[in-house]
Amino acid sequence: MARKWLDYKTDAWVQWCPGCGDFGILNSIYRAVSELGIDPEELVVVGGIGCSGRTTYYVKGSNFHALHGRAIPVATGVKLANPHLNVIVAGGDGDLMGIGGGHFVALGRRNIDLTVLLYDNAVYGLTKGQAAPTLPAWIKTKALSSPNIHDNINPVMLAFAVGFTFIARGYAYHTQQLKEIIKQAVRHKGAALVDILQPCPTYNNVMTNKWYEERIYYVEDEDPGYDPMIRTPEDFAAKAPSIVSKLLEFGDKIPLGILYWNQTREPFEDRLDKIMPGYKEAPPARRRLDVDGRPFLHPFDVFKDRLVAP
Ligand code: SF4
Ligand code: MG
Repeated sequence: MARKWLDYKTDAWVQWCPGCGDFGILNSIYRAVSELGIDPEELVVVGGIGCSGRTTYYVKGSNFHALHGRAIPVATGVKLANPHLNVIVAGGDGDLMGIGGGHFVALGRRNIDLTVLLYDNAVYGLTKGQAAPTLPAWIKTKALSSPNIHDNINPVMLAFAVGFTFIARGYAYHTQQLKEIIKQAVRHKGAALVDILQPCPTYNNVMTNKWYEERIYYVEDEDPGYDPMIRTPEDFAAKAPSIVSKLLEFGDKIPLGILYWNQTREPFEDRLDKIMPGYKEAPPARRRLDVDGRPFLHPFDVFKDRLVAP
C-alpha cells in the first residue's frame, strides 16, 4: 500500500548546510519508501559517521546511528536476525570507502540483501572538508593546503569487483531519477549500491553543481542499447566488457542510472536457509531467546541440531 512521504518524516530539525546534496537524498528516500509502501516499523536505516549519518534521525524507522565505518556490520546483524526487514545503509564516502572499506568488501562477498546509499561528496564534510577516498587526484578543495596527491576509489567498480549484484549511480539534485533508482535497489534481493554524487557546498568548492552538470549523463538517454541485466552466466560473459567500461567511466563524462544488475547470485539469506532449515520462516529475531531452557547465546545454538551439509 502506497503511503504519503510525510508519514516517514520525523520531527527532528534537519541540521545540514543550506544547499547540501543530503537534502535531495533524504527527499528521495522519503518518496522511494513511501511509494514502495514500506511500513516504518519494517524499515531500518543504519548510518555511519559524518553528515550522512544524520539521516537516521530524519526518517521514521527502527534506525541505528553506528560508529565510524561500522554501518554495514550493524546492518548485517539487523538483516540476518530479521530478514523480513528493509535495511538501508546511509553512509558517506569517507565512512564506507575509508575505515569501513573492509566491511563493504565483505558485504559484496556475502551478497546480503542490504541497500547501501553512498553519499559521495569526495570530502569529509563533518570534520571540515579533508580529502575523502573518492576525491580525484590533483583537485585542491578549499580545506586542502595543496592538491590531493591520492588517486580516487571508484565505488561502483569496487562494488562490481567484490560481488555486489545491483550497482547504480544517481545525482542528489535529480530527486525524481534518484527516487526511482533507490526503489529498484530496495526491491533487489542482494547487495545493492547506489553511489550518489552530491555537492557539499560548504567544503567542496571544486565539484560543485556546475561541475557535475557538465559531466553527468543518464545511460538510458545517451546509450539506450546498454543492458545492465545479467540473468545467466552466458549473459555475464557477453555483457561484462560493456558493463566494465561503463563502470570505469568517471571523468569528463560520468554515467548515471542502473549500471549493473545481476540476478544469478543467490542472496546470503538463501545460503543460510540451506544450512539452517527454517531460518527464513523463523529467523533468530522471531524465536524464543532460550534453547531448552538455557539462555540464548548464538544463532548456531538455535539451529545446531538441525545443521545439514549444504
Ligand atoms: Fe552537507 Fe557539506 Fe554541510 Fe555536511 S558539510 S551538511 S556534506 S554541505
Ligand atoms: Mg563525504
